Amino acid sequence: MAKVGNRQNKTLVCTECKEENYRESKNVRNTTDRLELNKYCPKCKKHTTHKEKK
Ligand SMILES: [Zn+2]
Repeated sequence: MAKVGNRQNKTLVCTECKEENYRESKNVRNTTDRLELNKYCPKCKKHTTHKEKK
């Protein structure tokens, strides 16, 4: 039986325009630090740093 509770859905926000572009499922047991990913932002029309929303 798979245990639920270790995964949380996090919203990734573009650090330049503050647009919420991505939803990531994060394993909170394996990943304790905040997510920070380089992803394409359709609003900025380029790759920007996306950070996990609080
Ligand atoms: Zn952006």
